[in-house]
Amino acid sequence: MALLEVKNLEVYYGVIQAIKGISFEVNEGEIVTLIGSNGAGKTTTMQSIMGLIPAKHGEIIYDGVPINKVPSHKIVQMGMTQVPEGRRVFQELTVFDNLLMGAYTKKDNKKIKEDIESVYDRFPRLKERKNQIAGTLSGGEQQMLAMGRALMSHPRLLMLDEPSMGLSPLLVDQVFSIIKDIHKEGTTILLVEQNAGKALAIADRAYVLETGNITMTGEAGTLLNDDRIKKAYLGG
Ligand code: ATP
Repeated sequence: MALLEVKNLEVYYGVIQAIKGISFEVNEGEIVTLIGSNGAGKTTTMQSIMGLIPAKHGEIIYDGVPINKVPSHKIVQMGMTQVPEGRRVFQELTVFDNLLMGAYTKKDNKKIKEDIESVYDRFPRLKERKNQIAGTLSGGEQQMLAMGRALMSHPRLLMLDEPSMGLSPLLVDQVFSIIKDIHKEGTTILLVEQNAGKALAIADRAYVLETGNITMTGEAGTLLNDDRIKKAYLGG
């Protein structure tokens, strides 16, 4: 059984159909990537899975349970968390308080403190800046904070929306290496990316999204060597 199954999903903004009946699945233990260019519908798909944008048709099934009508905070409690596009940290709060917000589904204060320490171990820069206001962090630091905050809920499935966006090549490498580590430690990953080369390099399987439709799917390694993918997404 897939951990996440999306069946014939259709999403509209008013009369405009952004997602046109897509189906895909993520199995436990996989890194699956959804690649596509600007405006293909990647963010809409992720927001719809998280219950932030309603699906007009189709089913979203997490761990065997239909979640179309489940509110976002309940979905987080069920074990699925997202790192939204543009890193959306709480700009006016400190690094520490942002991490605390990530633990809003938890009640055990001692455990929350331990979890914050383990985020600091993974992202030492956040520890150095724990009292700094998040809005004053660099783009890379905000990405780390957004990831750290998501990890505070101990997701079984972590969804990342364009974690490489706006980062220097060095930071992109760092972020992807952290995603690989999180995966190795047992978290299933759904990675939404415009940077197809990087995403395909770490994923097991991939789906290509184009103007609201899935147009290709396969093993990530196979797609990385596919001429159509090379031409459309890998610069030749
Ligand atoms: P990007 O990488 O630019 O974020 P994306 O693949 O994530 O692109 P979406 O943001 O999901 O794409 O957008 C899919 C389509 O839906 C686009 O045509 C976009 O213009 C449209 N869209 C997105 N948000 C809204 C909105 N709030 N109202 C109307 N149309 C929207």
